[in-house]
Amino acid sequence: MKRILITGAAGFLGSHLCDRFIDEGYHVLAMDNLITGDLKNIEHLFGKENFEFYHHDVTKFVHVPGKLDYILHFASPASPIDYLKIPIQTLKVGSLGTHNLLGLAKEKKARILIASTSEVYGDPLVHPQTEDYYGNVNTIGPRGVYDEAKRFQESITMAYHTFHGLETRIVRIFNTYGPRMRLNDGRVIPAFIGQALRGEDLTVFGEGSQTRSFCYVDDQIEGIYRLLLSDYTQPVNIGNPHEITILEFAEEIIKLTGTTQKIVFKDLPKDDPLQRQPDITKAKEILDWEPKVSREEGMKITYNYFKTLTKEELRYSEHKDFTKYIQK
Ligand code: UDP
Repeated sequence: MKRILITGAAGFLGSHLCDRFIDEGYHVLAMDNLITGDLKNIEHLFGKENFEFYHHDVTKFVHVPGKLDYILHFASPASPIDYLKIPIQTLKVGSLGTHNLLGLAKEKKARILIASTSEVYGDPLVHPQTEDYYGNVNTIGPRGVYDEAKRFQESITMAYHTFHGLETRIVRIFNTYGPRMRLNDGRVIPAFIGQALRGEDLTVFGEGSQTRSFCYVDDQIEGIYRLLLSDYTQPVNIGNPHEITILEFAEEIIKLTGTTQKIVFKDLPKDDPLQRQPDITKAKEILDWEPKVSREEGMKITYNYFKTLTKEELRYSEHKDFTKYIQK
């Protein structure tokens, strides 16, 4: 049985990856420090023979017993609100955490895939974004802690590949959505759906003319799965190229949820990228992959998931208090 370590396993993408690799018959070693992850996302896997969970912070030395064939490094805060609350943790998990996992991969002779992001392109001056675009990132802006950690993560991963001959894979993930997104992480989809379900107005930042391209989680997981098993070592964009403005998207959510609330406009956050759309030519050619789930279909499933949350869980008010984790 192949053995795979998945970090950030209790998070949105991590938990879906656990499901996929359990289904594929792997032995899954799941790891999370539970700062932004939630055990609820993987509770259904506890008790399975081929699943085990390690409550551990990967910025500290990482050890797991036995052989390892693969590592998927998906531990990281991943929303602008999180970066503001835990900027140092965000930097550390992308840099120190990645270093530890690369060391573990070398020790175990395992193949490692690291989760990078469209944020490496910053506020892009090239559209759509191809993998050979170097990006336009503000190092000291609010998103800098995430963007630069991820850029460093790519560099150190390539260095381990070229210097140590480690088998590495790099996926650049574009906006992805689906069940198990954290309701109050500030991201636009849980924000809008949460607002609709609580009977609040939908908050569009700026004029809503900024664009995003949203990929359904099952498509994203399929792309990552194929990349891991491919022999391609350069970064690959995985996302859905179907682009939409945030204002149009808010209107779609109003239609989907049937809310009678209106749209209100708030200040645009600093360094909010103006437009984002993946060029997925590489993924098509190398992985024979492209997204299959339309936004209409994916959003219906996602809305149905959020509808199962209790009133208590839907209460927006306070974001989870991360302050106790902040290290100076
Ligand atoms: N956004 C918005 N209202 C919200 C939350 C987000 O208009 O309540 C906007 C945000 O300014 C950004 C887009 O939606 O332009 C996507 O934001 P998200 O945080 O989901 O992802 P990212 O900016 O990292 O792509």
